[in-house]
Amino acid sequence: MSPIPIEPNLLATRLVEWLEANRQNMVEAAVELARHESPSSDRVALENLATLVRQRFQDAGATVESLTVGNSAPNLKLRFGTPAVPGQRSVLVLGHYDTVWPLGTLETMPIRLEGSRLFGPGLYDMKAGLIIFEFALRAITALGQTPAQPVHGLITCDEEIGSPSSRELIETEARNACYALVLEAPLADGRLKTTRKGVGAYVLEIQGRAAHAGVEPEKGVNAFLELAHQILAIYALACPEQGTTVNIGLIEGGLASNIIPPHATAKIDVRVSTAEEADRIDAALRALSPVLPEAKLTVSGGLNRPPMVRTNAAGQLFERARTLGHLLGVSLGEGGTGGGSDGNFTAALGIPTLDGLGCAGAGAHATHEQILVDSLPVHAALLALLILNPDLEHAR
Ligand SMILES: [Zn+2]
Repeated sequence: MSPIPIEPNLLATRLVEWLEANRQNMVEAAVELARHESPSSDRVALENLATLVRQRFQDAGATVESLTVGNSAPNLKLRFGTPAVPGQRSVLVLGHYDTVWPLGTLETMPIRLEGSRLFGPGLYDMKAGLIIFEFALRAITALGQTPAQPVHGLITCDEEIGSPSSRELIETEARNACYALVLEAPLADGRLKTTRKGVGAYVLEIQGRAAHAGVEPEKGVNAFLELAHQILAIYALACPEQGTTVNIGLIEGGLASNIIPPHATAKIDVRVSTAEEADRIDAALRALSPVLPEAKLTVSGGLNRPPMVRTNAAGQLFERARTLGHLLGVSLGEGGTGGGSDGNFTAALGIPTLDGLGCAGAGAHATHEQILVDSLPVHAALLALLILNPDLEHAR
């Protein structure tokens, strides 16, 4: 039995009505997820939350498979709607349930509601996004709708540390997708994200030679002096006009104040807007040469997320979201960010990717992290419309 399709304007209205009626349930669900702390590094904590998330999505009508890679925590693979027939492309929805916050953060950042702001670690990035996904599916079912394409989802355990266990799963799912919808938070002003910078992580190690700083300093090779030269050389590689920035955010080394430092390590963060710039920086870092004749340099690392570049197809996907937004009475903008997400992987495969479909709020990775609970229903309605992909010919 196939349901009679609802005209898009009416569909939008019904979705918002159903979701507004469920706003309190959405808030309580977000609080429940936030109460389960889930730092990327704590497998037991991750498994606890994965069990809860899995149960919630099963209750919402999805089938959920738990996939571990090596000894990773579970990555949850979701299926919803009609199963794919061979050759049919899916709508892919991506989220993650790990956070940057260590266990015990709730003691200093308790979950609290102030007006329409719900504060708590991991809510904005991105437990509220998961609730938006769950309730979008619930609303679709409640209205008797069936998505035109199969809906595939991945809720991963390690996005905040560069997705080591989930990257391949994401790329496998993306290859069969017509587009990818990413549940990260929108920009601070509510715009969706169609570009993200690529992210590189490198380590520079400098080997010098120790010597007594008073007796025979000339016999040493000063790794810090070499590092000082290299820091300036590395910052000179930046090209902000092209979107390329570098940061040396951590340096270590040395033994004591009266010893010429024999070694130094610098951790380098690189952000790029294009693959060409990624290649240029990579080559330049690997070609760094020592200024002090006897110093030795070793550069390791590389690009761990390719840049998410706005293609025409991604632009069309955004335009579609904008039209769907009009049906909901919201006007959507688009923008970009220097931060990476799993959308970088799908976009790099040529899959149109729309990011920032999570909840409005503020303070990702910051102590004032919060969501605006009033925006939960409309964001879930937008996601439901993107999933249902209605024929818009007769809309407006
Ligand atoms: Zn995130």
